Amino acid sequence: MITSNSILEKNASLEEMIQYVMSNSPFYQNHFKDANVGDFESLPFTTKEDVAAQNERFCCVEMSKIAEYVTTSGTSGEPITVFLTKNDLERLAENERASLTLMNGSEGDLYQLLTTVDKQFMAGIAYYLGVQKMNAGIIRQGPGAISAQWDSILKYKPTKLIAVPSFILLLLDYADKNGIDYNKTSIDSIICIGESIRDNSFNYNLIGSKITSKWDVKLFSTYASTEMATAFSECKMQNGGHLNKELLHLEVLRENDTHVSNGEEGEIVITTLGVEGTPLIRYRTGDIAAFWSDKCKCGSSSPRIGPIIGRKSQLIKFKGTSIYPQSIYNVLMSFDKIDLYHILVDQIDMTAINLKILLSEKEVDADLLKELLLKLKTKLKVAPELLLVTEKELKKHIINPGKRKPNYITFL
Ligand SMILES: [Zn+2]
Repeated sequence: MITSNSILEKNASLEEMIQYVMSNSPFYQNHFKDANVGDFESLPFTTKEDVAAQNERFCCVEMSKIAEYVTTSGTSGEPITVFLTKNDLERLAENERASLTLMNGSEGDLYQLLTTVDKQFMAGIAYYLGVQKMNAGIIRQGPGAISAQWDSILKYKPTKLIAVPSFILLLLDYADKNGIDYNKTSIDSIICIGESIRDNSFNYNLIGSKITSKWDVKLFSTYASTEMATAFSECKMQNGGHLNKELLHLEVLRENDTHVSNGEEGEIVITTLGVEGTPLIRYRTGDIAAFWSDKCKCGSSSPRIGPIIGRKSQLIKFKGTSIYPQSIYNVLMSFDKIDLYHILVDQIDMTAINLKILLSEKEVDADLLKELLLKLKTKLKVAPELLLVTEKELKKHIINPGKRKPNYITFL
């Protein structure tokens, strides 16, 4: 029996996690008070709103046991704080060691980290700890500073980069303009975080193809979130991100909360295993992806999820069809001249929608406008209002100093 303030054993089971939160989490003691805790699938879900509204009540340990405070980026809604104990950091390191190993990593590798380890960002320290745990090396370049990234690649000869894919496009652009022959560098693969590089058939999407058409490197896709403190990473076969069953329990659910079958899309719902500080039970991530339960070509039978198709809350319902913002981004990104855009969505009711796309008058002329509208109509069956605005006004919508990521969409 797990008593109050006890520490979890490694590889805790689902039953042990339920016992643990019932002993230690003020939120779950109340949330499950009328539930049959012996029947996992009957337990009520936990939502982002629950965590945002009652953040401290999720914490299962005394403040003195908290080793790290990390936060979510607040891409959707209020940022959430996740409290990590020393054992949680160890779990995070093991998670990333296993992920990096799956993505062809070994102790002979040298990683260059192009994300921050500051600003309470979890992924940065997770990668750092994982690289240390696998006895490989790391160069913490952090985000930005493109010339310093290349200096470091040429000087230290790292084998792998850990980066946001759209930043790699900026690196390539700089290299082209400054005579750096990236195909002669030591880099063999890039671990991609934060953005999708594949379409639903596991082929490279626009960003993925743009990078690999120039640079002969292997791209690995990852999906992770601060709340789950676990990553789904591709193996060498690259057909979906593998679940680490020791660290996470996964459910992928239809709109009516039943389980999807092999190849079907649904919402990712997770239960953290072995987390001491901020464990989550049946947490609705709001992320939609396809679920694969058939055996992977790598031989592993651990389930996989496909690229994230969108966030449930961002589904745009339009005259009987439903689209995710990513499909609009894909059309916009297929135009080389368009770098800046912002979508305004006003969903009036189930059938009526007001969809506007703001574009830069500097980048888009009348001909391009016509071409873009035609492509949106044929690809997505939508005809949004396209508005040309000044670059300054457009950037006001995209760049928010309080957020880690640029914002390309606003739901009015
Ligand atoms: Zn595999």
